[in-house]
Amino acid sequence: MAKAVVLYSGGLDSTLALEIVKDWGVTALPLHISHKLLSSQQLPMVPDLKIVDVTEEFAQIVQKPEYGYGKNLNPCIDCRILMLKKAKEYMEEMKADFVVTGEVLDQRQMSQRLDTLILIETKAGLEGMVVRPLSGALLPPTVAEQKGLIDRKRLLKIRGRSRRLSLEIASKRNITDFLSPSGGCLLTDPGFCRRLADVIRFQEKIGTFDIELLKIGRHFRIAPDAKLIVGRNEDENKRIEELAQDSFIFFYVPDTGSPNAILLGDAKHVKSAAAITARYSDKKKEPKVEVYYRYKGAEKKVTVKPINDEELIKWRI
Ligand code: SF4
Repeated sequence: MAKAVVLYSGGLDSTLALEIVKDWGVTALPLHISHKLLSSQQLPMVPDLKIVDVTEEFAQIVQKPEYGYGKNLNPCIDCRILMLKKAKEYMEEMKADFVVTGEVLDQRQMSQRLDTLILIETKAGLEGMVVRPLSGALLPPTVAEQKGLIDRKRLLKIRGRSRRLSLEIASKRNITDFLSPSGGCLLTDPGFCRRLADVIRFQEKIGTFDIELLKIGRHFRIAPDAKLIVGRNEDENKRIEELAQDSFIFFYVPDTGSPNAILLGDAKHVKSAAAITARYSDKKKEPKVEVYYRYKGAEKKVTVKPINDEELIKWRI
């Protein structure tokens, strides 16, 4: 019996691909490639699902993708190459025969055109080894077909952006447990990408921790080496307090409704950071506000005038 690694995102197309290859009598080994730039939707329960986290590798790709970005900062071609490389590793480890994806020809302009599908699999070292059940009848024959492991006649001809056909097939097969397309990857969110672009500009290297910080708060670039993050709600305030480490400076205004904030940068920027924190507190209309800050275990305070909106806008990312 043939064995295949199935790249499974949890969405409609990869869910269908997984079910289809099982129908063919292929032993399916589902593999989910995860990184911290994906929205945190709960994956459906899939037996024997292997999950591989690629956040560190992915962060490097985001900083300098070989094949550039899509509409926002989404390096989809490089990202797909990385995913297929991981699928190849798993295929070799499990002695599987080929890799399966739920890709649909021309569904995504950047990464699912015929030329890019071929480029991506070639760069991942999987030339001819990727079977795409949903569009396979429109694509060149794969090694699995040539070896008689699968029947080309059973491949489908879905093409383009409409999800109608895929949804019809899912409904006929009673497949309902898949993630909605909304949310998905944060790299398609313009607001997130603005903050990310700022980090790419001012930092040499981006890691998992930077990505965590990008997901929360309002961000202000105070200086090339200093950034302030201000919580927008209770959850973010809690998260900021958890993330505030000894190397960062943590701010709040006591005895009033106040955000938590952290300064990533030198203590010489304490006054600017405190003025912004005060601006987002309930004392923002007062002429002078006492802002407390913690740094390297010691708590201090500074008295500042809350920053005005004209000044603020210059720093807002
Ligand atoms: S949208 Fe995000 S996760 Fe999806 S291929 Fe592009 S970069 Fe990768």
